[in-house]
Amino acid sequence: MIVCKFGGTSVAGREALERMGSIVRARLAEAPLVVVSALAGVSDALIGVIDAAEAGRLDSSAGELARIAGEHYALLDSTPAPDAAKKMARDAIAETLALLEDLRRGAALVGDVTPWVRARFIGSGEILSSRIVAASLAAEGVDVAWIDARTLLRTEGRDPERDAPAAPPVLAASVAAVTPLLAPGRAVVTQGFIGSASVEDALRPTLLGRGGSDYSASLFARALGASRVEIWTDVDGVLSASPRIVPGARRIKVLSFDEASELAYFGAKVLHPSTLLPAVEAAIPVWVGNARRPEGEGTTILAEGIVPEDARFAVKAIADKRGITAVQVVSTRMLMAHGFLARIFAVFDAYRTPVDLVATSEVSVSLTIDDDRRLSEIVEALRSFAHVTVERGMAVVCLVGEGMRGNAHVAAEVFRVLRHVPVRMITQGSSAINLSLVVKSEDVADAVRALHDAFFRGPLPADVFGAPTTPARPGSESIPPLPREMLLSLADRRGTPLYVYDLTALEARVAALRRHLPLDPGRLLFACKANAHRTIVARLARLGVGIEAASPGEALRALECGHAPNEVLVSATNARAADLAELVSRGCRLALGSLSDIRRVGALVPGTAVLLRVNPGVGEGHHRHVVTGGAQSKFGIPLEHLAAALAACRQAGLRPLGLHAHLGSGILEPAPLLASARALLGAARMLGRVEVIDFGGGFGIPYREGEPELDLASYGAALRSELDAFAGAVGTRPEAWFEPGRFLVGAAGCLLARVTCRKESGGHVFIGVDTGMNHFQRPALYGAYHRILNLSAPDAPVEWVEVVGNVCESTDVFASGRALPRAEEGHVLAILDAGAYGFTMASVYNLWPLPAEVVLEGGEVVPDR
Ligand code: ADP
Ligand code: ASP
Ligand code: MG
Repeated sequence: MIVCKFGGTSVAGREALERMGSIVRARLAEAPLVVVSALAGVSDALIGVIDAAEAGRLDSSAGELARIAGEHYALLDSTPAPDAAKKMARDAIAETLALLEDLRRGAALVGDVTPWVRARFIGSGEILSSRIVAASLAAEGVDVAWIDARTLLRTEGRDPERDAPAAPPVLAASVAAVTPLLAPGRAVVTQGFIGSASVEDALRPTLLGRGGSDYSASLFARALGASRVEIWTDVDGVLSASPRIVPGARRIKVLSFDEASELAYFGAKVLHPSTLLPAVEAAIPVWVGNARRPEGEGTTILAEGIVPEDARFAVKAIADKRGITAVQVVSTRMLMAHGFLARIFAVFDAYRTPVDLVATSEVSVSLTIDDDRRLSEIVEALRSFAHVTVERGMAVVCLVGEGMRGNAHVAAEVFRVLRHVPVRMITQGSSAINLSLVVKSEDVADAVRALHDAFFRGPLPADVFGAPTTPARPGSESIPPLPREMLLSLADRRGTPLYVYDLTALEARVAALRRHLPLDPGRLLFACKANAHRTIVARLARLGVGIEAASPGEALRALECGHAPNEVLVSATNARAADLAELVSRGCRLALGSLSDIRRVGALVPGTAVLLRVNPGVGEGHHRHVVTGGAQSKFGIPLEHLAAALAACRQAGLRPLGLHAHLGSGILEPAPLLASARALLGAARMLGRVEVIDFGGGFGIPYREGEPELDLASYGAALRSELDAFAGAVGTRPEAWFEPGRFLVGAAGCLLARVTCRKESGGHVFIGVDTGMNHFQRPALYGAYHRILNLSAPDAPVEWVEVVGNVCESTDVFASGRALPRAEEGHVLAILDAGAYGFTMASVYNLWPLPAEVVLEGGEVVPDR
């Protein structure tokens, strides 16, 4: 026999019942036991009714119960069941609803509902749904028997709503009663979630905890010797992350029992945490699939999983579980108090509260619990011998994979990826197939997405991961800076690959900075390494925005495009002194970042006023390759060498105008920018007279759908008050300079490419385009995410693809596992937010010529300078 469990969405509605009917019919030869959940939403609704009744809300609870009744009758009426079957179901449903109505009134009257009554009430949803399912299967011509699971499944009776199965959970007598009904050609329908406990010789209904139908299914499977358990749900299988957080999560083809148990335990809601226990004991394979797409391959869970050969793909899935409470217990005794841990755990045991994660040192223990119903008693008991702190609203993020055993890459990558997310606790289970992190609930989505990006990048091994769930159409936020028709016509007229920039968008960004930054006095210097197109550099000169040049070449470009020399700041690293001196003689300004620069430049052009570029000791950025501050950085004078640098200036005859710092690029939070600003203002006090403070750039832009913009208003306001305080203390207000690059041009540009090749291989769809990592390096260099649009067919059906370039390198991937309207050869794709660090980083690698560029304004092409 087999067990087929259908979740709430798989039984709710006429069509769902029909799909279920055909799934069950196809398995009749295997003598299926059909275990069903309540209709989707009904368990929650019943909880709402009993809570409302208990709180004395007679009317609202009556109305809601009537709605629930109506939903069930309507569904039953819609099944074309034979009259006899329909009548039987209708009578049974009426009987259950009458009981619910009595309980509801009683609850309202008494105002106090025992856990036993609650369990009876809430578990009735499964009784109702299973009656309809039986009638509906009969309507399909299936020979059906219906059994009340409360007569089969025994639980301990200690915690009626979240009870544990008794040993044995299904009595031999029950097995003997069911077995004759289970015959090829017939389906036996029963309920998940509910059982009963024997209390004072009577049986009382109990529940296995929310989502417990999966658990029921595997308990029945073990008791009845099933050859497999099928869990029919609303997703294509177990996915690499919750699809609610990661819409592109991948389907995992095969999981080991251990992997699936860890995932279920740590929040992958698709399976109840205990589902695998009975299956493991009896080595029964469990299969998870989508009742809406029964032909799908789903996920198979077996004793042995698959360990991908490539260690980079060691992580199979990332689960998240919210509503966790973290408890920190610190011994009040001296060191070496043995028995400390034992005492702690005895307390949790006494209150029957499972501890999920534990991290210990000799005198302190951090642990997490999911069930906080007894927390206050637990804390009180612990306080008799320890200091206790409690943090609610925490969450566990758990990475799971058999390949993680002894794999150093995973931990390293986790720490790198989560450097922006405060992690409270880290643990690795002794099985070494999971790594769990405790973070605040509000950080979960960010953490899971960032980790998923890092571990599920590139074409994934096709033996382990299947195509993801049905892709959603990319968000409507994916709007290029210019109308689609215009971009398509540019691609036709000018050819591809083509960088397109929009001056109108650029000007709007300049205005935004001017609105928010404290520029009175002050100036904007465009970091033209982001984009050195002559038209753009010239336009910025007209707008009164100067240039920050990272090399002599960039400074010459600025001068050539009409920038006044004193509006050009050269902050070149490791440049030749002669080149810098030459720029000084033309009137450019310098920011010097080492004692060596000071000595070498001072020797050639003494008397020059210079900025000193310091390393503020903090670094930030969207990727470690763009972090330019902090102890590990080659940039700037370490703050502890500032006194020596000032002495070197005096000796070399250079006049320090002020300080400059730049901590990194692509920063989306004001906090690190402000930390650097504070460090800079603190250090500036050493200078005596300070004319300029150059706060650098680093302002990020959102690259992903839905990512928020940097909060410039609050950064600007906070910085203004720092500057006010500084001016108050030193007597003069320095000019505030800023060096935006990406912020101005990033979203003002895109890269158009044409699809040259469409190919299916290894379960992936590769969309090959006529450009590559040579023309646009960010994805390959930083793993950067760029939205991609199919301009030629925005309404085509969406599919999952790998967008790849034409360079002979396997890292030449623009997007992996991306939802894109079906792209055919000849279609034009737009890679968005490519206005910064696009063309300026392009090379002729493979001897592909450089891409063309075009600048638009108000929809018109601006002639090149
Ligand atoms: P059912 O009612 O069929 O038991 P559930 O709602 O209990 O369905 O579980 C399925 C849901 O689990 C999915 O709709 C999905 O949102 C959620 N889920 C969370 N994590 C995962 C994951 N790793 N893989 C698949 N689904 C997941
Ligand atoms: N209906 C129950 C719940 O919603 C059990 C289940 O669906 O698995 O929790
Ligand atoms: Mg479920």
